[in-house]
Formats: sequence, structure tokens, C-alpha cells
Amino acid sequence: MSDPKNVPAPNKNEVDEFLSREEFRRQSNKVLHGHPSPMYWKPLSSPTSLLLEERAAYSRNTQFDVNLYVGTPFCIKTKPARCGFCLFPSEDYEGNRGVETYLDYLQKEFELYRPYYADDTLGSIYFGGGTPNLYRPEHYGRLMQMVDDLYGSVPSDIEITLEGIPQLFSEPKIRAMKEAGFNRVSIGVQQFNDKLIHYSGRHQKLDQVHNSLELCHKYGLANSVDLIYGWPEQTMEDMLGDLQRATDAGVHHITHYELNIAGRSNFSAPAQRKLLPTIPDNIEMYLAANEFMRSAGFEQVTVYDWRRLPKDAETDRLSSYNYEHNMHDFVQHDNGRVNEISQVCGIGFAAVNFHPNSLSPDDRCWIYMNQTSLKDYCDMLDRGEFPVGRGFIYKHDDVKLAWLFQSMQTMRIDHVVYKQIFAENLLETFEPVWDALDARDWIRIDDQAIHFTGAGQYYIPMFQSLIASKRLEQVRGSKVGKSSGLKNIPITVV
Ligand code: SF4
Repeated sequence: MSDPKNVPAPNKNEVDEFLSREEFRRQSNKVLHGHPSPMYWKPLSSPTSLLLEERAAYSRNTQFDVNLYVGTPFCIKTKPARCGFCLFPSEDYEGNRGVETYLDYLQKEFELYRPYYADDTLGSIYFGGGTPNLYRPEHYGRLMQMVDDLYGSVPSDIEITLEGIPQLFSEPKIRAMKEAGFNRVSIGVQQFNDKLIHYSGRHQKLDQVHNSLELCHKYGLANSVDLIYGWPEQTMEDMLGDLQRATDAGVHHITHYELNIAGRSNFSAPAQRKLLPTIPDNIEMYLAANEFMRSAGFEQVTVYDWRRLPKDAETDRLSSYNYEHNMHDFVQHDNGRVNEISQVCGIGFAAVNFHPNSLSPDDRCWIYMNQTSLKDYCDMLDRGEFPVGRGFIYKHDDVKLAWLFQSMQTMRIDHVVYKQIFAENLLETFEPVWDALDARDWIRIDDQAIHFTGAGQYYIPMFQSLIASKRLEQVRGSKVGKSSGLKNIPITVV
């Protein structure tokens, strides 16, 4: 009989049945997923203002380290839609007028948060989307001014990232970003090969990628490149060629992840599927990529993230990715006594707020996401309301699972720390899971941690689903679990 104070866990038969069913199924790419998936979210019964007042009360006992996310809705139209593979909410770019209107609404939302966020300490800022480098040069200063007005000031030493696509970076924009205070650029390259990128419908050329990177170097901006592997017709040689180009170009950080086949991805269509590498092919690519990256002088930070090995404080700054790193270890503690919690505060279209306020079983934590339709987002702001769509109020087990999901992204769960902060023996709770993974050589356990190894790293999204499976059965059985219609929408970072 399992201890009701522990996270509900699958038994041996359930673990075996799950693994034999899922091992050769295409995984939904959970590069940015947390627990629980948005398909379990629903409109929250508490008004946002009440949640924020409650959060303010928690902040009197616990220091919050805030990672601010600012959302942008627009993307250039592609055929297939949304670059074929992208599951993030977005709206078609129809010209600068729509952008200007959106910025006015964004400013309104910033102002709504002023009574609640003004005293927070900022740890990092991420401008994501959508395609934030669709903005014109004069917009970057305005965006930073909104942040400045909300928080009083922006610490000069924090990481401030803006993401975009290669064909939209230009010298006037990069200069304006630098002048406005941005210090990191994340470039959604996805594919260097001009032929393979056509599968995404993008009109992207190799020289645009190189120009973007050269501009980042010229203006001293830390830079990161997103690359996808597992494209139709992509060979091992193609994939390694992409990594070679990125490392040769002096990129500081690389996110290398598998093509998304789930949900509305164009690549889930039968005609496309026939051209895809098989799952064993993708595992082989994943392992070969890891070997290549290590030999190229990079260190693995998460299942998907690689940073150039730092040689000094400056290269350490350039190759870090604090926005994500801060959330992988969102509880700072002293022998189990919590002294700081990292949170995500999201403002803008489809932005997520993840507020793990406390680790006490009696306290409330939650996650919620802004509207994913621009019309709904603007309509709510017109009514003076927070433009929140759906969310999820955590039970204590969900906080534990959220922490475990984040740890697993780093390929290591510190079971000693878990016991200190949650007073639960993780090795015992999930013993049938660890036994099954160990038998397949997917993990190694020592006195401090569970380490995911080899193909076990590739399968981490599957293991996340496995350890959450019994808790999600409970959620599905309750009213909370009724489908929210948000299936397959990824949530940034958490
Ligand atoms: S991949 Fe980037 S550019 Fe393409 S639809 Fe998604 S957010 Fe937009």
C-alpha cells in the first residue's frame, strides 16, 4: 500500500506495460513542457487579482527570483502553416499597424501588473513568441521601457534575451536591441541546409543565418541557435553538418531538439511520416550529436541544451542561459529550509505565469496562461481584466512533479535534495520505475542522484509522462481534468 503523503506511482506491471507501449511510439516533444500539460488546464475559479494578492502574501516569507517572459503573437505566414512543426500559439503578421496596436495592449497589461510585481527582483528577461524580431528598431526601446516602468529599474547585470528568425535580423535592429539593453539573442535557425529548410515553408537562406550571427558578434551579444534534427530525408551527415556550421560560426549556446511529429505538426501527416527517420535513427542521431558537441568543446546542460565550455567570466556569461537554468532548479534551500523560489511571470499574448509560491503542502501554487487568440487577449484588456485564459491550481504532488520534470531536463535528479525539500524518499516512491529503467541501462543511481544515461536521455519526455501517469489519472477523474482544448500547446520553460 503506497503512502498517501507520497506522489502516486505506477506499480511494476503498469511500468512494464507503459514502457512496452511507448518505447517505439513517436514522443511528443516536451522541450519546453512542464507538469501538467495544458490539456489539463481550465478557466480558474479565483480571479487573477486574488491570486496575485495571495502571491504577495507568500512573498513576505519567501524571496522570489523572477524570470520575466514577454510574449509576441506575430509570425510571418508560411506554407505549411506555422513552419510546419511549431506548436506555439501565434497569429499571422499582417503589417506594422497590427504590431503597434498590440504594443498598446501589451502596455495596458504591464500597467495592470504594477500593484503586484513592482517590488519583485528580476533574475532574467526573455522576449519570446511568435517572432519578436518582427519589431522595428524603434520598438525595442519601448519594450524595455515597459519593463523598466513596471519594476522601477532593470538590473544591469541580468540576462535579457530576444528571440527571432534569421531572415529578420538586420544591423539597425541589432544595434537598437543593444542600445535598449538586450544582451542575448536566440536565433530559431532550425536547419542550415537550404533544401531541408523548405519543409518548413520558410524562405530562409544560409547566408541570412551567418549574417545574423556576425551581427551578434559585432555588437557583443551572447547568441544561441535552435536546431532541429529528424527532418524528412535528413541523414546523419546532414545533421552533423548543421552542428559543425553552428560551432564553426562561434555560437555560444545551441538548443538541439527533435522534430515535433505530434498534434497539428504538418509532419504527422502520413505522406510526411514516410520520409522521416525512424525512432532508432533519431536515437542514433541524438547520441552522435552528443558525441560531436562534446568533441567540439561544448558542455551538455539539459537534454537539448549545449553551452560552449567557459574559459573565464566573460565566456561564462556569453554561454549561459539563465532564464531556463533558473527554473531547472527553482528551489534554493538550506538543508530543506527554503530561502528562495524562482518563478516565471509572463506578460503578453499566450504568456505563462508559473508561481510555485511555497513548498508547504497547505499553501497554493498555480500556473496560468494568457489568451492564445489575439482578439480574446485584447477584448479582456479592453474590459480592464487580466487577459488570462486557463490555468491549473497545484496540489502538493503537482509541485513535486513540476520540480521533478525540471530536474529531469538536466538529466539528473538529486534524490537527496528531493528528500530534504519534500520529506519523501524518491527512490522508494518510484522504485518500480527506477528498476525498469536501470534494467535497460537508461539510468545509473548513486548516493546522491539518479543520472539518465545514453538513450535514457532521449527518452526523458517518456519518463516524465510515466512518473506523472498516476497523478494525471486522478486529475482526469476529477472535474479539473476535463479537457481544456489546449492539448499540444507547449508552455515556455515550465
Ligand atoms: S517556429 Fe518560430 S517563426 Fe515558425 S511559427 Fe513557430 S514561433 Fe513562428
